[in-house]
Amino acid sequence: MMIAACAVLLILAALIVGQARILARCRFWCKSCGALFSLPWTKLLFRQHVNEEWRLTCPHCGSKGWCPARRPRKGEDVR
Ligand SMILES: [Zn+2]
Repeated sequence: MMIAACAVLLILAALIVGQARILARCRFWCKSCGALFSLPWTKLLFRQHVNEEWRLTCPHCGSKGWCPARRPRKGEDVR
């Protein structure tokens, strides 16, 4: 039983980290200052989100708010 519980926890952790890493390739749009920014995946763990909007702190103006995510298109450079 313990081994099964550990395996489930490991899979969950891998899913959470995997999602955050995919998200780190997206860019977020700040509604306050209009900046597009990306964040390292470590800062995207355990963030609240509703659909494609994420509750983040903008690194440009420092305001906290809901930022729509823009997924990178194929062939587009991700900085
Ligand atoms: Zn901003």
